[in-house]
Formats: sequence, structure tokens, C-alpha cells
Amino acid sequence: MNWLSRQSFLGPNSAKILKSARIGIVGLGGGGSHIAQQTAHVGIGKFLLIDPDRIENHNLNRLVGGTARAAWRRARKVKIARQLIKGIQPRADVEIVCDVWQAALDKLRECDVVIGCVDSFGERDQLERFCRQNLLPYIDIGMAVTAVGPEYLVAGQALLSMPDEPCLRCVGVVTDERLEEEARNYGDAGEQPQVVWPNGALASVAVGFLMQLLTPWHAAPLSGAFREYDANTNTVRESPKWRTLGARKCPHHPSNDRGDPSFDIRLCSDGGSGVKRSAALWGRIRKIFSRS
Ligand SMILES: [Zn+2]
Repeated sequence: MNWLSRQSFLGPNSAKILKSARIGIVGLGGGGSHIAQQTAHVGIGKFLLIDPDRIENHNLNRLVGGTARAAWRRARKVKIARQLIKGIQPRADVEIVCDVWQAALDKLRECDVVIGCVDSFGERDQLERFCRQNLLPYIDIGMAVTAVGPEYLVAGQALLSMPDEPCLRCVGVVTDERLEEEARNYGDAGEQPQVVWPNGALASVAVGFLMQLLTPWHAAPLSGAFREYDANTNTVRESPKWRTLGARKCPHHPSNDRGDPSFDIRLCSDGGSGVKRSAALWGRIRKIFSRS
């Protein structure tokens, strides 16, 4: 029996579509490691994993696949994720980049969807811009622990960001104040408190976005979405901000961004560029673009 037989409800050819899809995961720490694990289980066939960092002892509280031995050896986070994926799917095509994502732009352009799991607001802002310039669906997750009086609020969010639709700035995740604060710290997001279960909840929401985007499961897939996770009440909801944004087009990344010299429209088609895309997948994503 096919190993994905229990998820055939995702629609005709869903296993084939998922196998042919190439996803880019930027950041293989707390959030990204959950994404790597879940997308391997669900049957994604091709992975691009990008992270310059190595695991440390204090990552063991949340990094899926991380072991005491790996922390002792200070293994690369991308190698831990590759091992995790290969343990589930020995034949998966897994490419790793032990560097910053800016060093792998051509490889990222070959992905069908990019998922950002990085801490810094500046990085997230730039990665989203890059994806929009290249007509790539971008999914972003992030969480924060904030002290309010004697209590700690643990909250996060997941955004499905599509060209022309509301972006990280529209929903208030990236703000000039946050970018300025990071700039004062030389772009370092600092040692933020992090725990495993909010990352897992947010990664699950992100993989849910990915499934509705890639498979025929949803007859009318969302062309954007913003979910908020409140770990104090253990709830995920559609953000009220998203509702107020309504059908407003994003003013932060004008369509003429696509005039960027590095943007190659051929990479968005199925032939001629040497980039092998799944026709079914791209037909589907183009349909969402044409609605937006
Ligand atoms: Zn915007």
C-alpha cells in the first residue's frame, strides 16, 4: 500500500504533486525543524534547506531532530534537518546550504514555495521582498515571549504572503520601529526566549497553508492568510487585522518590483529555463496569482 494512502483526501494526484514540489526552508532552528519534519511526513519530494548556524546545547529545548550528541559535536542545523527528512524519506532530494540565504538566490528561485523561519525582522522583510520579486509564495512564522508585569505573554503568527496581497508590513509584523531597533543592535535579533510547543503550533499552521496551496484539497485555495497564535490561551485564530485589511492591495511591494534585474519570468513557467516545475502545481499557483 502507498505510504501516503491515509491522506488521499488531499485530492487526485496529490501524492505526485507533493513529490514533485520543491520547498525552500530558510532557518532550521526551532520553527524550521518542525516544518522539515512535517513536510517530510506529508510527502514533499524536494527540499532546499538554508541555515548558517550550528546546534548548541541551549537549542535542545526545541530543535526537532536535535540530539545531545549533535549538540556536543556542534552539528550544522541543515545537516540535522537533512538527516530527519532522509530518515522518513530516504529518496528525498535534499539540498543544503550552510550559509545565509542571500548566498543561494538562484537555488531559492527554483523553489515552488519558500518558508521563512528566521528571527530577525530585517531578514524576514528582505526574504519576503525577494519572494515577491520572483512570484514565489512565501510563508512566514515567528513567535515572541514578552514580559508584561509579572507575567509572560507567549504569542506568534503565521502569514501566507502572496504577491500583491497583504505583506509582513501590512499586518504589522515588520515595522520601521522594529527595524530601527534591530539596526541599533547591528541586525542581531538577540537571544530571544523560545520554547518548543508554540513553534510546533505555528509550523503546523504553516504546513496547513502549504497543503491548501499545493494540493487539490481546497477547491478555492486562499490567496493569503494571517493567523495569530496565543500560547497563553492555547488558541489559533484568523487575525482581526487580516479582516480589516480586507481586499486592500499591498502598497509596500509595488508590482513594478518585478522589474528587478534579477527577476526572470521564465522561471515562473514550466519550460525553457531548465527549471523543472510541476505543471499541475504551477497551473494551480498561477490561478491564485491571477485572482489576486
Ligand atoms: Zn504590504
